[in-house]
Amino acid sequence: MSAGFAQLIEATLSHLQDLKAHGVRYVAVSPALLAALRHPAPVVVRPSEPAPQAAPPLSVKTLAPMIRPAPGPAPMLSSSQLNPSRAAPESAQKAQAMTELRARAMVCVKCSHLAASRKNVVFGVGDINAQLMFVGEAPGADEDQQGEPFVGAAGQLLTKIIQAMELSRDTVYIANILKCRPDTPALATGNRKPTAEEMKTCLPYLHAQIDLIQPKVLVALGATAVEGLLGKTVGITKLRGHWQTYRNIPLMPTYHPAFLLRSIALREKRKVWEDMMQVMEKLGMPISEKQRGFFLRAMGG
Ligand code: URA
Repeated sequence: MSAGFAQLIEATLSHLQDLKAHGVRYVAVSPALLAALRHPAPVVVRPSEPAPQAAPPLSVKTLAPMIRPAPGPAPMLSSSQLNPSRAAPESAQKAQAMTELRARAMVCVKCSHLAASRKNVVFGVGDINAQLMFVGEAPGADEDQQGEPFVGAAGQLLTKIIQAMELSRDTVYIANILKCRPDTPALATGNRKPTAEEMKTCLPYLHAQIDLIQPKVLVALGATAVEGLLGKTVGITKLRGHWQTYRNIPLMPTYHPAFLLRSIALREKRKVWEDMMQVMEKLGMPISEKQRGFFLRAMGG
């Protein structure tokens, strides 16, 4: 058993004892999580290295040194090169750190009201070596049901945007500010914006995901994502299309796809597409004439 896994078990046990002391008698654990806990990821030891010592407590600080950025300036990348398989040994450590982070998020009950109402924790999806990461607000009903971010109507539009960039959901990473669906006790349907308290409580998971993935570019989808990542409450209309920085990573704010679904104006869709072309340029991806023309002809441009 790896030291990290042993720590995870220890932390889980102490958390469960805490809950018990506070009168909690049952916790929901999915079959998938139980199976994952039974089979921890193997520790990869390089032949020339001594066996690993007991690891320090799992935290962003301890996870960060596992990922070393590639030396030198970023090369120009074609879209097919956007996800080179980084088979370096660090990659195995990174995968294990992400598995451990996911396992912690899956049993999180810090927002007890959300833990009680959720069907699934929606951790994130995609390539943990991705150079491009999208961040949304919070899972909706479909995402809560399926345990995957952006799978409902807005998610299908996001998938189309990603495909228009000649990428796929598998070659980018997608996550949210909140990992649980905001509960809506008084409503039969619908969503609500996460509260400031919920965002503050959940954000450490997203920060740790970003620290591990180290994407070259972040895209913040909508005002809540911008607020969560940058602490800015300036309107998204003002911010979109203008590069920001999150811990030295270029961040492009753009409209949330749900807003595009509500808006019939092609002008707004074109704005998001222009933001995505800026992202492609930043990543050194080629942009075809066809891509440059998206939505222009329909607008009479
Ligand atoms: N909206 C979001 O912000 N995130 C999702 O995962 C789905 C819809």
